[in-house]
Amino acid sequence: MDRGLSLHSNHSDLGCREYSKHTRLSQGCESGHGRGGRSVTPSRNEHTIAVSCEVRGRGYWSGRDVRVVMHPAPVGTGIQLVRSDLPSKPMCQASVEKRNDANLRTILHDGDARFEMIEHLMAALVGLEIDNCLVEIDAEELPGLDGSAAAFVAALRTAGLIIQSQPKRRLTLRERIYVESPAGWIEATPAEDGHTSYEYRLSFDGPSPIFDQTFTLRMTPERFIRDVAPARTFVTEAQAQSLRKQGVASHVTNQDLLVIGEHGPIENTLRFRDECARHKVLDLIGDLALANVELVGNFVSYRGGHNLNGRMAQRLAELAASQIPLTHISQSHRNVA
Ligand SMILES: [Zn+2]
Repeated sequence: MDRGLSLHSNHSDLGCREYSKHTRLSQGCESGHGRGGRSVTPSRNEHTIAVSCEVRGRGYWSGRDVRVVMHPAPVGTGIQLVRSDLPSKPMCQASVEKRNDANLRTILHDGDARFEMIEHLMAALVGLEIDNCLVEIDAEELPGLDGSAAAFVAALRTAGLIIQSQPKRRLTLRERIYVESPAGWIEATPAEDGHTSYEYRLSFDGPSPIFDQTFTLRMTPERFIRDVAPARTFVTEAQAQSLRKQGVASHVTNQDLLVIGEHGPIENTLRFRDECARHKVLDLIGDLALANVELVGNFVSYRGGHNLNGRMAQRLAELAASQIPLTHISQSHRNVA
């Protein structure tokens, strides 16, 4: 592993406030001008986790028990997913080129290395600014857990963060990018204050048990942990019935995600009044993570889903590839060990 500054040990169980302190410390180490600054997002170096950690659960679609083990990885690794249950241990880089379209989830695929529903894991990694990680998964489908990214976030926070020796590639948007479908659109625009935000505007055609709602996240690890990571996957009661009729996800109960009926969640309670829009922000963050670059811009999705997220991630990856990786990182940051 790279030399790096270990900010805390694996037995730490950091609270949100402590995580906040730790993040500011890491930015201060690198740039010296990030403390409390609200107008400019400081450049930073790549991060990995200090020690390995794991999450266990059951796949929503497959019903299979699955173990996800996350390991530290050297600079420049990115997020690599390994099928630890297969003899050849095939690997897939988590990038938009490996992305496949699927109903209600995001799939990555490279030869025998196929992974389903990777978006909540990806959101947890990018939300905590973990850039390099080797993730061993002993099944095709990642665990559904409670429908949110909370368990991934909890495990990664316990593992701790290491600052590495290479600047993180950053894409600062200078122009508008827009993708649309018959159902909705996603717009990416420059962030005038240099601070990234994600917004989701949720609205259904015709009568729906889910009311129209909008949620905006001004992105920091602390706000991601508090406001977005616990927001759960949702389906309407009609969608749940349709899936069960198809014999899909028959083991999934009303406590394993939000099933929204006429009078609200069935046999469950909302964590936030606008939990559905917040979950869509979680999916957006996880899917855009496949662009493999730190994003500085404002991202607004009107009724977008995984397909539109993937198309936006593709555009962002192409834009990043057309730019010199270190364009937006000052010389002084390159010598941090
Ligand atoms: Zn989701």
